[in-house]
Amino acid sequence: MNDLIRLSNLTVTYERHPAVHHISGGFAAGSLTAIAGPNGAGKSTLLKAIVGELRPAEGSVDRGPLTRNDFGYLPQAADMNRLFPISVADTVMLGAWKNAGAFGRFSRKDAERARDALGIVGLSGFESRHIGSLSAGQFQRVLFARLLLQDARVILLDEPFTAIDQRTTRDLLDLVLRWNREGRTVIAVLHDFEQVQSYFPETLLIARELVGWGRTEDVMSPTNLIKARAMAESWDEEAEACLPEEEHDSGELAKREPAE
Ligand code: ADP
Ligand code: MG
Repeated sequence: MNDLIRLSNLTVTYERHPAVHHISGGFAAGSLTAIAGPNGAGKSTLLKAIVGELRPAEGSVDRGPLTRNDFGYLPQAADMNRLFPISVADTVMLGAWKNAGAFGRFSRKDAERARDALGIVGLSGFESRHIGSLSAGQFQRVLFARLLLQDARVILLDEPFTAIDQRTTRDLLDLVLRWNREGRTVIAVLHDFEQVQSYFPETLLIARELVGWGRTEDVMSPTNLIKARAMAESWDEEAEACLPEEEHDSGELAKREPAE
């Protein structure tokens, strides 16, 4: 298999409580995958582990030849601070930081590319606006412009269309599909099942543990969706991770059976 990113028995914990548990599988190069699952299922945690923001407590993420610069990551809106006093143009140009010279200077070319990117997301003329003055949809367009500038091989999006107007969602979804046509690997956490089924050929369905990973039509079956909800509802927040030093015993100390 030509997987670009491989997860092997990946467990990620917060203070030893597992948020993502024993996930294994791969993202093929150039694939377009939705990550779906109930609230609190570990979707954002999984994305952060893939991009390297969180380290595995157990298992691994194999990124092959990829480095941090190959990843474009858009966190969930709630994780972002818009009070920071920065203009639209500067926010977009941050996407070019990997091209900036040793002293962090942006070139005239970067400024031109930022302007072009803003044009593509429909925000020409917004360059000098403060990001705090934008609507949620406009701000998301800015962040997509930044991703355009970043030109990453792998793009990770965490609920990019939540609380975003329909018109913006359609425009930005077009951009996602374009990125994928260009051969980029795109992974997006989505809560809208219709979007998943209409646009994402692959789905990873998670409820702390893996429920299914493969073709969307197979994974998003009614049986799997019911199973995911039951697993999420019965998850023990206080369970300890089954870390290697505890494994001499049963090896699966924190693993529980999903509710029937
Ligand atoms: P999702 O994105 O699917 O809603 P998350 O990955 O955000 O789920 O969260 C999974 C679990 O981990 C939840 O129980 C959540 O409360 C917990 N969690 C998430 N972030 C943190 C954190 N920074 N510290 C402690 N617990 C966290
Ligand atoms: Mg989340």
